[in-house]
Amino acid sequence: MNPFSNIFQEEEFGMSLTIGVLKESSPHEHRVALDPEVTKRLVKKGLQILVEASAGEDANFFDNDYESAGAKVVDRNAVIEQSNIVVMIDNPDEQTRSQFKSGQLILGLLNSLTVTDEMTEFAKNKVNVLSFDLLPRTISRAQTMDVLSSQSSVAGYKAAVIASDLYPKYFPMMITAAGTIKPAKVLVLGTGVAGLQAIGTAKRLGAIVSGYDIRPASRGEVESLGATFLTSSVSNGAGSGGYARQLTDEEQEAQHKELAEFIAQNDIVITTAQVPGHKPPLMVTEDSVQNSKPGTVFVDLGASDLGGNVAGSKPFETVVTDNHVTIVGAGDLASRVANSSSQLFAKNVQAVINYVIEDDQIQIDPTDDVLTGLAAVYDGEIINARLRKALDLPELPKPEEPAEDSETKEES
Ligand code: NAD
Repeated sequence: MNPFSNIFQEEEFGMSLTIGVLKESSPHEHRVALDPEVTKRLVKKGLQILVEASAGEDANFFDNDYESAGAKVVDRNAVIEQSNIVVMIDNPDEQTRSQFKSGQLILGLLNSLTVTDEMTEFAKNKVNVLSFDLLPRTISRAQTMDVLSSQSSVAGYKAAVIASDLYPKYFPMMITAAGTIKPAKVLVLGTGVAGLQAIGTAKRLGAIVSGYDIRPASRGEVESLGATFLTSSVSNGAGSGGYARQLTDEEQEAQHKELAEFIAQNDIVITTAQVPGHKPPLMVTEDSVQNSKPGTVFVDLGASDLGGNVAGSKPFETVVTDNHVTIVGAGDLASRVANSSSQLFAKNVQAVINYVIEDDQIQIDPTDDVLTGLAAVYDGEIINARLRKALDLPELPKPEEPAEDSETKEES
């Protein structure tokens, strides 16, 4: 059976579609998936928007802002009960997951490759899931939906700002009548979207900045920001889709040795290394932390329950070691710039909504590789190829329908 054949029908949901916005359940999550500006645009398009009371408060968007934008502010149960599409930032808690209904569509940054059991549960309950972590980011028409980029960019900026705040010296060189202060040296490990933004911000703050990555292609991007690229001994660490590959044990050992030298020469180390579907690679060992100068600041964007890039980093915590080194467990930095990151997230959500709704129906076109990439679960089936591989499920056959020209489908 073609798993995409069952699209939402108008008669199942009434004349117009309803989008629900949940308040995030984690105490560390301050973002909200829709802001009042995007809400207003969607209402103008004829959609009904339900927002859970106080959903945007931590991001400085208040219930009356949503009401002025044309949304209804209701309680959580009403959002879940009455919405065709429910949008959120992070994975819903267990209670919320159990409330979603068959045929409903949920959209968020749901880390589907690491919570495969949740995806299996959604499939069992016929809850349809679009998960931003699966978006094929290199397809040009998907770029307006790219939450990973919009949020990483915010996180990279904040990493440099936090580092400058915790570092007990100036970032820029200061020549004053009272003497000269040397500029700070900042090293950024992993120079993807977050790393490049951290480099740009640290440069603007006046530091001397270098970047390190195992993808040789990132050299040009680092150098174009005026930073020095540190060449890795790891022979081409690029994997598929522009991402890094996982290193072998030998490569990782060699990397730890070369990085120990680079780290000891710097005052600030910002780490952003990720490998999709795997826990973040350890880049700064316990020995490197011990050999760092007093006052050194590590900001670990990889810090999560899965581990981090820096030995000793703890998610959501700032630790000061016995040798006076500060380690910030900073996996939540986009949430710490909640207003701006929510505005960008909302634009990404708007792009997806515009893309999937046609003629007052939700259409998941089986021949559209943006949608087949973004969709984790549809009509009771795990349909995403990467997720199926992670779950050891066989590949699905290609859809039988003749392909509509998907290149012509643009965001309206
Ligand atoms: P990411 O968050 O997956 O990882 C961050 C960085 O860590 C990457 O640069 C990666 O190479 C690096 N890394 C991983 N393991 C490492 C290790 N052991 N040692 C050193 N560095 C390591 O990456 P991202 O920010 O999502 O970007 C990944 C790629 O996708 C980049 O090439 C980026 O330019 C590209 N991208 C393309 C588009 C597009 O085409 N529209 C959009 C976004 C990102």
